[in-house]
Amino acid sequence: MSTSSSKAEEATSKPSVDEVVEAAKQRDPDQPEFFQAVDEVVASVKPLLKERPELVDVLARMLEPERVLHFRVAWQDDDGRTEINRGFRVVMNTACGPGKGGLRFHPSVDLSTLKFLAFEQTFKNALTGLPLGAAKGGSDFNPRGRSDDEVMRFCQAFMSALYTEIGPDTDVPAGDIGVGAREIGFLYGQYKRLTRRADGAMTGKGSNWGGSLVRPEATGYGLVYFARHIVADADESFDGAKCLVSGSGNVALHAAAKLISLGAKVVTLSDSSGVIHEPDGLTEDGLAFITELKTVRRGRIKEYTEEFSESAEYVEGGKPWQFAGDYAFPCATQNELDGDDAAALVDAGVRGVFEGANMPCTAEAIEAIKSGSLMYSPGKASNAGGVGVSGLEMAQNAGHVFWDEEEVDSKLQSIMEDIYTAAKDTADRFDLGGDLQAGANIAGFERVADAMVAQGVW
Ligand code: GLU
Repeated sequence: MSTSSSKAEEATSKPSVDEVVEAAKQRDPDQPEFFQAVDEVVASVKPLLKERPELVDVLARMLEPERVLHFRVAWQDDDGRTEINRGFRVVMNTACGPGKGGLRFHPSVDLSTLKFLAFEQTFKNALTGLPLGAAKGGSDFNPRGRSDDEVMRFCQAFMSALYTEIGPDTDVPAGDIGVGAREIGFLYGQYKRLTRRADGAMTGKGSNWGGSLVRPEATGYGLVYFARHIVADADESFDGAKCLVSGSGNVALHAAAKLISLGAKVVTLSDSSGVIHEPDGLTEDGLAFITELKTVRRGRIKEYTEEFSESAEYVEGGKPWQFAGDYAFPCATQNELDGDDAAALVDAGVRGVFEGANMPCTAEAIEAIKSGSLMYSPGKASNAGGVGVSGLEMAQNAGHVFWDEEEVDSKLQSIMEDIYTAAKDTADRFDLGGDLQAGANIAGFERVADAMVAQGVW
């Protein structure tokens, strides 16, 4: 057989996009969250793959993490009992820079969840325009109800298993659900104790020990900066608007604070037990109460109605999406807003859904949001402010400098504006009727794919 005919045969036998995805599903049939994220991205990037079919091979490589660590975390609780948890770190893609992404401590953490998060992180981090690769990690450990000492011992055991694998130029973990300032402190302290290096191998550090100003606020503020561009394009504003926010963690609390500062009425917040509805909107004092309740006392959201507000109602097991409002900000967790919730939002006249969490809307919800012609922004674009400021923290650490609040906040605003422009321009380039979801997916995918092509096959 001549070389040219075998080459031609090879060209015709290349797998299609659907075959590439199907093969990955066959390899890991038990990873629904991961493939939900994959299907969402793949559906969006088809117009690009049609224009550049050579990138189908690159997609196939993207579906396999570069490296997956799975380790035992054994530690002693306050009663001296040995407890065992599972620890993971998934380094998904380092084409654009060192691995970067948070650690999640939550009972739902498994490989499927972390691969979905690391996959999302790949495109999100590329969209920031900063030199960041993508990773995610965590444990099925639940910090709720644990003493500070137990959390410290757990974090020390977790980092003892991970410290050889991370570093400022290899992989830089940060926080996520269940990993806040307290956990980052214990983790980074153990990293330094073991390596004797204060090299900024983690972000989200305290601002007096190598952290960046505005990092705690960055995801929530960035979400509102991003959404503000979308509503401004529709000649609307947040001033006086009723906003439904879910969650009461870092993202939700800072998104609520920024919305209130812009004159919006934040009428809901929630936790895994239920939702509070404050019909005239939370005051700054009300939000300060909830922030203290959640971050210091580590209590439940219903205590707001018991201890602070007489006008608010608490609905056990409820979600914010059952109330009326102008805009919705799902800021809690994946798949928290399903098709029925989205239909309720459409019926209630909500005009936009802006994702603060990672993949909070199910595929059915996104379909209902789009067919109801609501404004919509996917988390990988609108929640990129957190990792964006993590990138700024890495730059400050590498340069041994410390930027003031104004400098970091203005850089955050530019990052969010650039992501918005990239998503919008890419949607226009492919004639997608202003679809920011597809625009963000294609723009992020193309940046990573180009970087992978440039660095050869490995
Ligand atoms: N966990 C955040 C996210 O989902 C932040 C990650 C980071 O700062 O590295 O993007």
